[in-house]
Amino acid sequence: MSYLANPNRYENMQFNRCGKSGLLLPKISLGLWHNFGHVDVYENARRMVLKAFDLGITHFDLANNYGPPPGSAESVFGTILKSDLKAYRDELIITSKAGYLMWPGPYGDWGSKKYLISSCDQSLKRMGLEYVDIFYSHRPDPNTPIEETMMALDQIVRSGKALYAGISSYSPKDSQTAIDILKSLGTPCLVHQPSYSMFNRWIKDGLLDTLEKNGVGSVVFSPLFQGLLTDKYLNNIPEDSRVAKSHGFLKNSDLTPDKIEKVKLLNEMAIKRGQKLSQMALAWVLRDPRVTSVIIGASKVSHIEDAVGIQNKLDFTSEELNKIDSILKN
Ligand code: NDP
Repeated sequence: MSYLANPNRYENMQFNRCGKSGLLLPKISLGLWHNFGHVDVYENARRMVLKAFDLGITHFDLANNYGPPPGSAESVFGTILKSDLKAYRDELIITSKAGYLMWPGPYGDWGSKKYLISSCDQSLKRMGLEYVDIFYSHRPDPNTPIEETMMALDQIVRSGKALYAGISSYSPKDSQTAIDILKSLGTPCLVHQPSYSMFNRWIKDGLLDTLEKNGVGSVVFSPLFQGLLTDKYLNNIPEDSRVAKSHGFLKNSDLTPDKIEKVKLLNEMAIKRGQKLSQMALAWVLRDPRVTSVIIGASKVSHIEDAVGIQNKLDFTSEELNKIDSILKN
């Protein structure tokens, strides 16, 4: 049956301005790194994307290598766009990235102009798009001059293949350099995409300050530490979980007794707040106003509903924040 979007989709989603740009992004964005590849069930992927849009999630985060196999998440998303979301293209922020290994030989990895330009062209073909909204350098390349990588982003924007440029996982120092170069080229850096969660707080050591100073937004990834900051691994490893899948990026060895102990304490706190742990963990990430949006991953429609549901309870008392800090420190 053909898809008609929920007419009330914007009623319950809050939007934040991305840095000092004109672009508003939903507080919750959906990433297609896991669970949207050709190894996954297409109908589930489609249901998740459409549910997200129906709940006001306008921002879908992709990259050339998402799958598996690499490229297949973009192909799956392209199929959903064609079959269901074509009429809504102007309501969508669709992103892609290049920076990790995508094809063999010297031109399918890292940060050369040769790689970024051809990879962007491939991503557009896979998704059936004329342009993406944001194109990212997926990671800094220590062996390519940062000027070259930024010139590639500038060219991609100038040629109309992307509307905005972004960087991902750049250190505060490299971010400042990238921001300055992009500014001098006339294509401002819109956004940085770093990892951030209760278990991974590196962006507090200077990155958010650098972004704020330069008017650059931040959309943060793996806010649930790939699912560890939920109640799913408290007693065992569920068969359908990321850890149980051979291609999952979260490994059994990441579930250390120390982390599980912390997750248990955090879970008790979340229950007292009347939330699921996954919801408290997302609200905690969004409590810093410099975080524009949180990119969630999902394997079920209910994960997306849980995430959107946090908007009624985003606030924390100082007591709660102190308690979380002490759990994380110990
Ligand atoms: P999360 O930390 O949000 O982990 C998502 C996983 O958590 C889900 O797949 C699911 O695990 C579990 N989960 C989510 N909600 C619930 C819930 N309510 N109850 C129980 N379990 C839940 O994010 P990801 O690591 O998936 O990353 C999100 C996105 O960030 C990616 O899709 C990608 O777009 C982006 N990203 C960017 C990177 C970069 O280098 N720029 C790197 C990594 C990610 P399960 O599948 O086991 O059910």
